[in-house]
Amino acid sequence: MNVDKFMNDLEKKHQGEIEYLQAVREVLESIEKVYNENPQFESAGIIERLVEPDRVITFKVPWANDEGNVNVNLGYRVQFNNAIGPYKGGLRFHPSVTLSILKFLGFEQIFKNSLTTLPMGGAKGGSDFDPKGKSRSEIMRFCQAFMLELWKIIGPNTDVPAGDIGVGGQEIGYLYGMYKKLARENTGVLTGKGLNWGGSLIRPEATGFGVVYFAKEMLGTIGETFLGKTVALSGFGNVAWGVAQKATELGAKVVTLSGPDGFVYDPAGISVEKIEYMLELRATNEDIVRPYSYEFENVEFHQDKRPWEIKVDIALPCATQNELDIEDAQKLIDNGCLCICEGANMPCTPEAIETIQKHKILYGPGKAANAGGVGTSGLEMAQNAMKLCWPAKEVDARLHQIMTNIHETCLQYGKQPDGYVDYVKGANIAGFLKVANAMLDLGLV
Ligand code: NDP
Repeated sequence: MNVDKFMNDLEKKHQGEIEYLQAVREVLESIEKVYNENPQFESAGIIERLVEPDRVITFKVPWANDEGNVNVNLGYRVQFNNAIGPYKGGLRFHPSVTLSILKFLGFEQIFKNSLTTLPMGGAKGGSDFDPKGKSRSEIMRFCQAFMLELWKIIGPNTDVPAGDIGVGGQEIGYLYGMYKKLARENTGVLTGKGLNWGGSLIRPEATGFGVVYFAKEMLGTIGETFLGKTVALSGFGNVAWGVAQKATELGAKVVTLSGPDGFVYDPAGISVEKIEYMLELRATNEDIVRPYSYEFENVEFHQDKRPWEIKVDIALPCATQNELDIEDAQKLIDNGCLCICEGANMPCTPEAIETIQKHKILYGPGKAANAGGVGTSGLEMAQNAMKLCWPAKEVDARLHQIMTNIHETCLQYGKQPDGYVDYVKGANIAGFLKVANAMLDLGLV
């Protein structure tokens, strides 16, 4: 395989799908050598088969708002690859959702799920519906209308969706309620469920906790810890609050959080009480970043800016794709940042990653660092299948173990001769090998 030639052909086939093409190129560049050293992959057409989803399902989602006006959104499910287990990946509700974004997320999900060591394939789905500013009943009606189509193609052993941007516990509840009514069964068909109806303890905070467990391992390779460090965080959603909580617990001071309109800088640190306040605000479905700056003293709001200009030891982007570019990376490096670890999927641009790695700063890619979310979803599926509910301590211990194992795997495939760890390479090669070998075992299907 020649990556440039391969990407040329793929770009012609999928013109304009920028995020998807970006994600594919990143993986191919990491695995090119391993792929070419194993001619069995080439002769089985593994790459050609891996980069195309098994199928893409699109549907319309008609729903009525509180005034009775009819709205129509687009719904999608991208079932990418199920070589190692049922399709698995979140649902994103956000106006920026396009097929390209869902294909990039579904493609990444294949390798992330493979890294968890649990039997889960890769998928992603969602809609261009914007939950922001919508009433609870509007969100419920939308979720029900969405599930009216989605339920036909999902199942506990077929395809198991979860949350993502704009889809938290409440939305999963409305989606699952409708699924149960249609399918007439209680099964682990969605993860991120509420505790009273099949959910797992620790799942809400799992992605964020996992990011911090992973970053802790990374810091350990240079003899550092979270204790006494300052942390810049972006977003304040499903992922970011768990990150803030665990980093604070480990003795770090989280000094920023952000939204699409800017970031807040709180030099005193976002304490546990402040996190509680933010969680209450989040439940209102309104903007939350600016109100934070009004509520607490000595907090600065930086309109239309990103948190990466603040001098910190650790940066944890947890909002969205391509939110940390080369200039941001350079600022962090100039300010002495030790570690950049991704809570979000693909938040750093390719140029930013290149700069970070060139300066030998610790860099943890999302597909490894945020895999604790889907890892704990896998644990939720296991508990559902056994009709059991493990205690929080047990789930947290398993999550911790999953993150430590992923870190070990990254070291195994990513350690360079000079000792620097290329976590991108480590994660991509390890994730790829398991799926590719499974595809070989399963034959041409
Ligand atoms: P949420 O919707 O819960 O949170 C996203 C946060 O980011 C919100 O605070 C949002 O602000 C903010 N945000 C959105 N767009 C921007 C932007 N352009 N600039 C700055 N801030 C922005 O989503 P999640 O926390 O679930 O997901 C965040 C990221 O983590 C995504 O990349 C997702 O794919 C990834 N991820 C999520 C997992 C999960 O378990 N949920 C698992 C693994 C990865 P506002 O609400 O004001 O719009």
